[in-house]
Amino acid sequence: MPPELLRPHLPSPLQPVDDARFARHGVHLLLKRDDLIHPELTGNKWRKLAPNLAAAQGRPLLTFGGAYSNHLRATAAAGRLLGLVTIGVVRGDELAHRPLNPSLARCAADGMRLHFVDRSAYRAKTVPPAFADAYVVPEGGSNSLAVHGCTELGHELHGLADVAATAVGTGGTLAGLAAGLAPGQRAIGFPVLRGGFLEEEVRRLQREAFGGPAGRWTLDDRFHAGGYARTTPRLEEFAEDFEGRHGVAVERVYVAKMLLGLLTLTEEGAFPPGTRLAAVITGRP
Ligand SMILES: *Cc1c(COP(=O)(O)O)cnc(C)c1O
Repeated sequence: MPPELLRPHLPSPLQPVDDARFARHGVHLLLKRDDLIHPELTGNKWRKLAPNLAAAQGRPLLTFGGAYSNHLRATAAAGRLLGLVTIGVVRGDELAHRPLNPSLARCAADGMRLHFVDRSAYRAKTVPPAFADAYVVPEGGSNSLAVHGCTELGHELHGLADVAATAVGTGGTLAGLAAGLAPGQRAIGFPVLRGGFLEEEVRRLQREAFGGPAGRWTLDDRFHAGGYARTTPRLEEFAEDFEGRHGVAVERVYVAKMLLGLLTLTEEGAFPPGTRLAAVITGRP
């Protein structure tokens, strides 16, 4: 099941943007448009899923997600496009999810078999016995193959940026991005969840994928805006303003938080004049 069949647009475009708030500090802002890789499997979801689709070798693909998971949506779309059976194990009571929200309705329309489990079964990530032969991709899509897939994102930035930034959900994208950068480049991750556990999670993913730490990376934990899918008036205002200035749709759960983090760090003087800052646009609304 070669994922090339899906015709990704790779390497993704790297676009300079003219933004006085960065230019004032001598910082060159570049948008790494991973949101343009594929019309349906956008951004880092493409990079993480593609090696897993190849490894599944046509077996049913089973994965886990919340009711609004971009990862579930991408998996369902890949299933339809490649003719693979997909199973989504969803947290929560089935009745509480009917009628399906637009995200789950999209998954169902793409042929994904939705399997609802209660919180404790979800936490245990047990594979329902009926699907014991399935190829299992973890919640959020981050496993060793996914991390390897994201190293390509780092490779695409060689010689083109000094610092690369990404939002962090499970940490797989940052783990691969940092590993794929060249010496002298570094990555910054902006967690969108609160709790401070993601540093250990990125380390764990790198150990699993590469046998140890790889590349230079740090996390800045100040921009989650209260937690997953939470927002603040300031964040919303910033995202709307950014869209107006640059004509790029800003995804709110992840991308907006990363961009606001980068602006704040720039205003704090965190980047020396001349820094080329690549902001990875990991998805779109
Ligand atoms: C899933 C997702 C992320 C998070 O990627 P991780 O590898 O889980 O850290 C970031 N941005 C967007 C738009 C996403 O959909």
